[in-house]
Amino acid sequence: MMGYYCLRCKRVVELKSDYQGIRCPYCGYRALKKERSPVMVKKIKAI
Ligand SMILES: [Zn+2]
Repeated sequence: MMGYYCLRCKRVVELKSDYQGIRCPYCGYRALKKERSPVMVKKIKAI
């Protein structure tokens, strides 16, 4: 399941497979952004 968050109310919205109805269910805003996972950042050795 894809994780998004609303750009207006900052709430996390979980969308199902249907991509057509991309809309915040809380405030009705249509701009949702993909939720990034900061855990994926690679560690680089300084040496
Ligand atoms: Zn919203």
